[in-house]
Amino acid sequence: MALKLMDIIEYHDSTGEIMVHRVPESGSAETKLGSQLIVREDQKAVFFRDGQALDVFGPGKHTLTAANLPVLTNFIGKLFDGRSPFRTEVVFVNTKTFTNSKWGTPEPIPFRDKELKFVRIRAFGAYSMRIIESQLFVNKVVGSQGRYSREQIEDFLRNIIIARFADFLGEVASKGVSIFDLASNYDEVAIGAKSRVQGDFEKYGLELTDFLINAISLPEAVQKMIDERASVEAMGGLGGFTQYQAASAMRDAAKNEGGGAGTGMGMGAGLGMGMMMPGMISQAMQGNMQSQQTKPCPHCNAAIPATAAFCPNCGKPTQTTKACPHCSNQIPADAKFCPNCGKETTPQKVNCPHCKKPIQAGVKFCPECGKQISE
Ligand SMILES: [Zn+2]
Ligand SMILES: [Zn+2]
Ligand SMILES: [Zn+2]
Repeated sequence: MALKLMDIIEYHDSTGEIMVHRVPESGSAETKLGSQLIVREDQKAVFFRDGQALDVFGPGKHTLTAANLPVLTNFIGKLFDGRSPFRTEVVFVNTKTFTNSKWGTPEPIPFRDKELKFVRIRAFGAYSMRIIESQLFVNKVVGSQGRYSREQIEDFLRNIIIARFADFLGEVASKGVSIFDLASNYDEVAIGAKSRVQGDFEKYGLELTDFLINAISLPEAVQKMIDERASVEAMGGLGGFTQYQAASAMRDAAKNEGGGAGTGMGMGAGLGMGMMMPGMISQAMQGNMQSQQTKPCPHCNAAIPATAAFCPNCGKPTQTTKACPHCSNQIPADAKFCPNCGKETTPQKVNCPHCKKPIQAGVKFCPECGKQISE
């Protein structure tokens, strides 16, 4: 079969979905100096021979000369006289941003949670990218990998994304970030993971313009536990869990400050600790202060720790009692709910929105000013 002679080299992608297209589609064709090369907007044309990207042309209409094909003509060799046809392939690269490519973990990634040991998690998301260095991209992805279709390229990129995502998870796990933090901070996790993936994409001439996590899925039992914790938190029952998280995150941040700002910043930015911490820290600090606070013993009046159940001075129980307004049982003076009947012992006070005087919560009309309290 005779080789095709290419007088005009061009490629038009009517779908807008083709990342790279090779001309000719298979085998090779001959062209000669003086031929026309038409490169459309959002395209780059890379001359390609024996698996190597050589000269690159941007948008425009180009007449091929030895001057604008220096690498290719040099590659062909000194015997090339400029008049004979030469064998080449041209790879048209689409430089627009490709949006909504999907990524996901085909196999669960083990996450080392400090409480739960290993949790197998899966993650799914989307990303946008564009080819910023055509020659590098063609050399690394098209040339050595033989990947041409968007699907093939996405398969290749998915492997990179998952590898870097797993690295990122390993890194945050080693800093004491829990599965609970991950599951409640997709956006921050995505920012952290994006910076890792971006580094790798650059090696292939790509820019990662967007990186999203749509879901992190956990084994059912773990998800259930997280939901329970979330509801405890929503009810205001902030236990040691969150405070411990905040404290260890702070410790790590402090540790990292010395060694390379990048790591510390990555953690802070990556998990939104900067955003989450102020509240948690003040809570943790309040907790500390309370334990140092004292109260007077109701019997001997000595200053004793606020949390002491018995006075270290006179030995008497420090808790004073009161009668439950519902069942009249003697209950601890500071109990909000009666341990006997379970009812609220001190009706909650709110301020009337009209006269601002303290009134009982839940009443329909203010006993002070008589106005209606809207819910
Ligand atoms: Zn006492
Ligand atoms: Zn009661
Ligand atoms: Zn009022």
